[in-house]
Amino acid sequence: MLKQVDAIVIGAGIAGSSCTLELTRQGHKTLLLDRLSFPRHKTCGEFMSPETREMLEYLGVNPHRHGAEPSSMDKAHIILPHGGEFEVPLPGRASGISRYTLDQLLHEKASESGADIVTNVVVTDIHKLDTNSYEVITRQEGVEARYQAKAVIGAFGTKRPRGVSHSQSREGEQVYVGVKSHYSGIHVPSQVEMYFCEGGYVGISPIENGLANAAALLTLDAVQKLGKSVTDILEGVSRTHAKLAARLAEGSPVPGTQVSVAPVRLSRVPEPWSDFPHIGDALLVLPPLCGDGMSIALRSALLCARSADRYLRGHLSLSGWKDQYSRDADREFRQLLRRARIIQRLAFTKANRLYPGLIRLVPGLASYLAKATRLTETRTFV
Ligand SMILES: Cc1cc2nc3c(=O)[nH]c(=O)nc-3n(C[C@H](O)[C@H](O)[C@H](O)COP(=O)(O)OP(=O)(O)OC[C@H]3O[C@@H](n4cnc5c(N)ncnc54)[C@H](O)[C@@H]3O)c2cc1C
Repeated sequence: MLKQVDAIVIGAGIAGSSCTLELTRQGHKTLLLDRLSFPRHKTCGEFMSPETREMLEYLGVNPHRHGAEPSSMDKAHIILPHGGEFEVPLPGRASGISRYTLDQLLHEKASESGADIVTNVVVTDIHKLDTNSYEVITRQEGVEARYQAKAVIGAFGTKRPRGVSHSQSREGEQVYVGVKSHYSGIHVPSQVEMYFCEGGYVGISPIENGLANAAALLTLDAVQKLGKSVTDILEGVSRTHAKLAARLAEGSPVPGTQVSVAPVRLSRVPEPWSDFPHIGDALLVLPPLCGDGMSIALRSALLCARSADRYLRGHLSLSGWKDQYSRDADREFRQLLRRARIIQRLAFTKANRLYPGLIRLVPGLASYLAKATRLTETRTFV
């Protein structure tokens, strides 16, 4: 059976569900598709920057008001492999909330606003039918379905559906693995703790219900020596960092919360468009260290929904939409990505023992590092 809608959003993570919510509110009949069923655990540090919280509020999602109790953080505590430690105040108050809860809240909002959400369904093919319509083919338990839409938006995260290629060569790039587990029994005061190790870093931060999130980004080479399961990898990396080992030993992993993602490749430039626009991690993958991936997912979703609205109302052609969104995304994110990559390189340098000295030598560098990748808090979204 062929179903016809105005817009199809592929991927129901934070980018896809917020874009769907915005498009539905604009009056467009929107279908949101995801290969997983929700709620689900997601590889993420679950550190919500002040900008993320602000954009969620703009979308009408206030985790406090919706019954969740996010934690609060006002500083980063950096712990180096050889014992050096220092603290950096965060620019604004950050929050911690699991993606299990947050993504579900966004789905509820999108559903309430009238969006159609279909989960457990894999998008296997997307093609353009003519200058202003697409066909999207899905598969669910061996059954194929076909949808037609005037607009398609790619919010599929780091893994692209078949046939959607990268505009940049990926050869020679460092490949990372991301892992995450929730822990009970670790009391984290209002801070995010960053443990730098050979081959990567592990963040520990408080989330809702007194739990802690432990998330790591490690090079593929490092992970191959550590183990196969998420718990083995976290235990393995903690053997290279005494303070991390002591911290993790205070609690125990919460069963069922262990997830991983690989390969993770950090973007060199934003990739706003293939045959259709991309948002969130499909647009650009920022080093997780910056704690801004969710903020970019939301910001790009809102930017894209704004020009999508003009296209769907016939005020822009498809190529006009492409030009507009590509310009918007480039202006918004290119510079930020450049700075974030510098920070990532610093974090992975073997000489990071020198890092605290460097921070003290250059007044203001610490807060520059914390602020450099943040989108400004005062922006309006539409
Ligand atoms: C280790 C690690 C730690 C991080 N920590 C933080 C942090 O503390 N704070 C922060 O702000 N950001 C953090 N990030 C980044 C953040 O998690 C991402 O930027 C964010 O999840 C991107 O959201 P998204 O909606 O673009 O993608 P996702 O949340 O990945 O959603 C994409 C969705 O698309 C679906 N999908 C993919 N392909 C298909 C298909 N073919 N058919 C149907 N569905 C499909 C997937 O199932 C998925 O649900 C971290 C990332 C990593 C790896």
